[in-house]
Amino acid sequence: MNDRIRRVMLVAFVGFIRAAAVLSLSVSWGAGSGWAQTAPPPADHPEVTVHGRKFTPRSILARNMGTPEDQTTQFPPHKIIANLYYVGTRTLSSFLIVTPQGNMLINSTYERNVQTIQKSVEQLGFKFSDIKILLGTHAHNDHQEGDALVKEITGAQTMAMAEDVPALEAMKPGGKEHPIDKTLHDGDTVALGGTTLTAHLTAGHTRGCTTWTMKAQEGGKMYEVVIGCSLRPPATLTPEVIAEFNHTFPLVRSLACDVPLGDHPAQYGMQEKYAKLQKGAPNPFIDRAGCKNEVDIEEAMFHALLDEQRRDARR
Ligand SMILES: [Zn+2]
Repeated sequence: MNDRIRRVMLVAFVGFIRAAAVLSLSVSWGAGSGWAQTAPPPADHPEVTVHGRKFTPRSILARNMGTPEDQTTQFPPHKIIANLYYVGTRTLSSFLIVTPQGNMLINSTYERNVQTIQKSVEQLGFKFSDIKILLGTHAHNDHQEGDALVKEITGAQTMAMAEDVPALEAMKPGGKEHPIDKTLHDGDTVALGGTTLTAHLTAGHTRGCTTWTMKAQEGGKMYEVVIGCSLRPPATLTPEVIAEFNHTFPLVRSLACDVPLGDHPAQYGMQEKYAKLQKGAPNPFIDRAGCKNEVDIEEAMFHALLDEQRRDARR
């Protein structure tokens, strides 16, 4: 073999190795992001205490997800405030916003839950086919896997934060293309029938994690509603993720808030509040004191993870 051929072969070999490395990296990243909600974190430390309660990475995940049965069992659909309703399962939130010009849905959750969401919408006296706009909080399958099916049934227009588009496009249940009719950017608004939702980019948990805010009028008063995106940090904090959270935590704290909600009901104590509602209490979802609970927990966990990661790196 002469030198020239040897050199060409070497270049081709290096190129092949590089491509394989990139491919395996992107495959494992893709799988990792898909697992994010269901695989237990690799380690169950650090532990943080927030408002007198202890949390670990695994206890937060367990609190969010519950059992597989919790993820797919209908929670009694109910009015939260004004034209905003809960139509999700016990542990995966789905919100319906009803307007005279049609309705909006936030989070289709798993595709296998779409029928349950439809049932909840109908039990509240609304038509599933009246959903005109479909939105989401973030590109994980427990929140947005059902988007294609919801669009298929309702014909709703789907909109997604630009930074979450690549992860959403990789989400193809049964080979269905993920529908994205319109790309949104931080601060964009979505309006229908007199209700305006504002999309806030609150990245970290995913690149395009979106916190939605809207105003709700009840009893002659106006209330600020915050539908939070998950703030749960991943096990490994890359420089990009650290920068995202450093921007997101103060932003979330700065949002005007009377009614805190989240993409997992445990983030805002839905079960306890719903129980109070059944006893005829004044609207328990109006909870100014609870507005910072979730960010307090996740920010404490983020800093504890960061300290641990920096300590390990020095070893
Ligand atoms: Zn998630």
